[in-house]
Amino acid sequence: MDRIIRIDVGAPGGPRVTEEGLGKYAGFGGRALTSAIVCAEVPPTCHPLGPENKLVIAPGLMAGSAASTSGRLSVGCKSPLTGGIKEANSGGQAAHYLGRLGIAAIVLEGEHNGSDLYKITVNTDGVKVEVDKSLALLPNYALCEKLKETCGDSVAVISIGPAGERKMSNSTIAVTDPEFRPSRHAGRGGVGAVMGSKGVKAIIVDPAGTKMRKPVDPEKFKAANRAFVEGLKRHGVTGQGLPVYGTNILTNVLNEAGGYPAYNFGQGQFDRAADISGETQAALEDERGGPGSSTHGCHRGCSIQCSGTYYDKDGNYLTKQPEYETVWAHGGNCGISDLDVVAKLDFLDDNYGFDTIEMGVSIGVAMEAGVIEFGDAEGAIRLVEEAGQGTPLGCILGAGAATVARCFGVERAPVVKGQAMPAYDPRAVKGIGVTYATSTQGADHTAGYAVAPNILKVGGDIDPLSPEGQADVSRNLQIATAALDSTGFCLFVAFAILDQQDTFDAMVETINAMHGLSLTGDDVVELGKTILRMERGFNASAGFTKEHDRLPSYFTREPLKPHNVVFDVPGEELDQVHAF
Ligand code: SF4
Repeated sequence: MDRIIRIDVGAPGGPRVTEEGLGKYAGFGGRALTSAIVCAEVPPTCHPLGPENKLVIAPGLMAGSAASTSGRLSVGCKSPLTGGIKEANSGGQAAHYLGRLGIAAIVLEGEHNGSDLYKITVNTDGVKVEVDKSLALLPNYALCEKLKETCGDSVAVISIGPAGERKMSNSTIAVTDPEFRPSRHAGRGGVGAVMGSKGVKAIIVDPAGTKMRKPVDPEKFKAANRAFVEGLKRHGVTGQGLPVYGTNILTNVLNEAGGYPAYNFGQGQFDRAADISGETQAALEDERGGPGSSTHGCHRGCSIQCSGTYYDKDGNYLTKQPEYETVWAHGGNCGISDLDVVAKLDFLDDNYGFDTIEMGVSIGVAMEAGVIEFGDAEGAIRLVEEAGQGTPLGCILGAGAATVARCFGVERAPVVKGQAMPAYDPRAVKGIGVTYATSTQGADHTAGYAVAPNILKVGGDIDPLSPEGQADVSRNLQIATAALDSTGFCLFVAFAILDQQDTFDAMVETINAMHGLSLTGDDVVELGKTILRMERGFNASAGFTKEHDRLPSYFTREPLKPHNVVFDVPGEELDQVHAF
C-alpha cells in the first residue's frame, strides 16, 4: 500500500490520472491519511463543493491483510454539512480490495466542468476513467445491478445515489458488502455531495489477480491475530451481544437508562421501545430466516459480525439489518414503532444515498414543525421519497436537520456544527454530550464513544448523569478513536481492547508484525493526538472557535424526563478537551 492515485477531473481534455508514492504521508492510513491530505491540500475556507476541495478515499493500515475486523474505509474532505473537516467511515469490501491492489488512497480533485458523469475502474492494469451518462440519477441498488452486467459481482463498488449527484448536504458514499449490495455507507457529513461535485458516480475496485497482503513477520502476525480474535470472542459485547443482537441491543439499554431521545429529543424514554428493540428484531429475523439473517459481517474477515440481513414478511431481501442509530432515528425519534417501516426507510436512505441519522433527525424536526405528525409512518416514507426525487420539500430535507429547522422556524434542532446528534441524549449521557460538542466532526457518537463508560460500564464506570470526569473520558476516547480509525480496525473492537489489556496488546502486535514496526501503546496515543491536532487546526482556519464547541442552548435549559436533567458540563471543561 504505497501508492496514491490522483484523478484530476478538471484537467484539459478530460480527467487525468496520476500516481505517486506516499512521500510525506508515509506511515499514515485511513483517517490519518484522509485528514493529513485534506489539511495539507485543501484551503480551509474554500467552498466544499468548489474546485479546491478534494475527496480522499483511504483504506486503513491493515487493509488487504488477514487481520480480523480490519476492512474499514475512510472518506475525507471539507464537509458540506459542517463546513469543517470530515472523516466518514464505512464497511464493505472496498478497503480490503484497495489494500490488495497496493493503493493507499484515491484522491478526486479539480474542477468538474460540464455534465459528464464518470465511472472509474481500478484494477491490476491501472485506472480507467469513462464517461457514462446512462448511470445518471440511478439509485444505488439499480446502479449496482447495472454495473454487475459488465463487471460481475466479485468487485467492490464505491458509489453515490441521486442525493450525491444533486449535491445534497446529507448525502452518503455507498460501498458494496460481500453480497454486492450497496448497503454500507460513509454516511456522515455529506461526503456524497463532494463526490458528486467531482462528477464521479462510481468507482469499481476489481481485486482480480491480487492476493492478500503478506505480513513482514508472518509467524508473529498469525499468533497476534489469533490472540486478538480470541480476545474479541471472550468479551461479552464483541463475543456475544453484538453477534446475536446487533447494535440494536442498545435500544432497551438506553431506554432503561433514560438516555433514549424520543420525539425529537423531547423525552428520554420511548414507551414503545420494546417493539423496535434488538431482542424483538433478532426474534423477527430468526422467525423469517434467510441467509445471514441475524448474524452477518459488513465485510469478509470480521470475527464480530455485528450485522444481519433484514427480510420482509414474504422472505424477500429488504435491507441490511438496520443499526441501532437507524432504528432510533427513524423509530423512537419520530414516534414510529414498526420495524418493517424502519427497515423500509433504511433501504430508501441507502438507495438514494442519505445518512440515516441525519435523515431521521431531519424528519423529527419536520414533525416538530408540523409538516407531518409524530408517528406518521407513511408520511415519513413519503418525505424520504420526496428527498430522493429532489422535490423542493425534498431538497430541504436533504440539506440536513439544521436547514430543516431554519426553513420551518424550529429552535429545537439537535445539531452541533450543523450535524445531527445520534441516538444518545447528551443530558442523560453527559460524556457523549462532551463528544458531540467538542468533536472535530460535529455531533458524532463514533468520534469518542463515552456511552461505553457512562452506560455500558466498559472501559470505566462514570455516572452518566454527573458532569464530573466527562471531559477527561471524552478526550481519551477521541484520541483513541482517531488512532483506531487510521488502522482500518472497526471501532467495535474498542469494547474488548478497552477492557482487556492483552487484547489491546495483541491488536498492536498485529500492526507491528504486518509492517515490521515496534509501536507501543504510547505511540498509538500519539498518533491519535497528531490526527486531532491536524483536524482542529483545519477547523480553526475554517473559522471555528470555542463557541462552536457547545451544544444548542436548549439542552442546557430544558430538563429531560425521566431524570429531569440538563446538560451541565461547564464550558471551561469543554474548552480543555483538546488541551493536550
Ligand atoms: S463489527 Fe460490525 S461494523 Fe464492525 S466490521 Fe464487523 S460487521 Fe462491520
